[in-house]
Amino acid sequence: MIVIGIEGSAHTFSIGVFDSTQKKFLATVKDVFSTEQGGMIPNEVAKHHRNVKEKVLAEAFATARIDWKDVDLIAYTEGPGLAPALLVTRDFAVALAHEHKKKLLGVNHIIAHLEVGLFCTGAKDPIFLFCSGANTQVIVHEDKYRVFGEALSIAVGNAFDKFARNIGLGFPGGPKIEELAKKGKYVPLPYSVKGMDVDFSGIVTRAEQLYKQGVSKEDLCFSLQETCFAMLLEVAERALAHCEKKEVLLIGGVAANKRFAFMLDAMCKARGVKGYTVPLAYAGDQGSMIAYQGWLERKREQKDFDFNPKWRAEEVDTFWKH
Ligand code: ATP
Repeated sequence: MIVIGIEGSAHTFSIGVFDSTQKKFLATVKDVFSTEQGGMIPNEVAKHHRNVKEKVLAEAFATARIDWKDVDLIAYTEGPGLAPALLVTRDFAVALAHEHKKKLLGVNHIIAHLEVGLFCTGAKDPIFLFCSGANTQVIVHEDKYRVFGEALSIAVGNAFDKFARNIGLGFPGGPKIEELAKKGKYVPLPYSVKGMDVDFSGIVTRAEQLYKQGVSKEDLCFSLQETCFAMLLEVAERALAHCEKKEVLLIGGVAANKRFAFMLDAMCKARGVKGYTVPLAYAGDQGSMIAYQGWLERKREQKDFDFNPKWRAEEVDTFWKH
C-alpha cells in the first residue's frame, strides 16, 4: 500500500510517502517557513503553505518515483496546530482526494509524532518525551495515550524561539541556540518543575534580563539549554519510576538537539533503562509521519474532513494498538 501524508500544522509544509510493503518511506519533502528576524505569523505561514504546496507535492512524487495510480490513501494533519495553516492543508488534501478519487483520512499530528518515533527506533512501550515548538508533554500509552505532565505556559521549543527572537537570532531559534551554546558557560537561571509539570516562561524572562545586563548570548544559550533539558529529564525520570517503564523516547523538533540527546542518554544509563532519540529526519514536522499514521489507521472510514487546532492526544482512540 502506498500512502501519502500531508503535513502543514505549523511552520513546515511537507509531503511524505510511505510504502507499507517495503515498510519504508520513499520520500520526505519539506519547505519550512523561516524568518531572519521576528517569529511565526499564522497568516504568513498559511500564505507560505499555499505558495509551496504544489512544488512540494511534485518533488515528493518525483523522489518516490510514483504516480497517482500508485497511491492507495491520502492522510493529512487534521490538528492540532495553527488554524490558518491547518485550513490550507485540509483544503489541499480534500481537493487532491476528490480529483484523484482516493480515500482520505485526517490524523492527529501528536499521535503521528509518537508512532513514527516507535517505528523508527524500535522502542516498544516507552515514556515519550515530546518536545516541539508548540508542545512539551510527557506521554505514556495505557488504554490510550495519556499525558502525565506538560509545560504549563509555553513549550520548550517555543521558549527557545522566543528567546532567540528577542535577542535578534531569528526563527527557528533552537538550532541557533544549540550552535551558540557550544561556546558558552553556565549562569544560573530559574529552574521550575511543579510536580510532573514544567514552566519555561520565567526562565526566558530572566535570560532576557541578563542579556540586557550584558551577559553574553553564548552563556545564556548554554544555560538555557542546560536548565530546560535538566527540568525535562527530571520529569521523565519521575514518570519512569511511576509507570515502571524501561524505555524513554525523545521526539519532536527539539529532539534534534545533540546536547539533549546526550543528557537523556546519561540519565537512562544511570537508571539502567534504554533511551531512544528519534532520527533527525523524523524529529521535526514532516509528512512521512502523517503517511505512516494514515497507514496505521487505514481501516477507519471518515466522511467529514475538518481541522481542529486544539485536538489533544488523549482524545484519540488508538484502535490500531489493540
Ligand atoms: P508541533 O510539532 O508540536 O506542532 P512544531 O510544529 O513547532 O510543533 P517541530 O517541527 O516538531 O514543531 O519543532 C520545531 C521546534 O524545534 C522549534 O521550536 C525549533 O526551535 C526547535 N528545534 C529545532 N532544532 C532544534 C535544535 N537543534 N535544538 C533545539 N531546538 C530545536
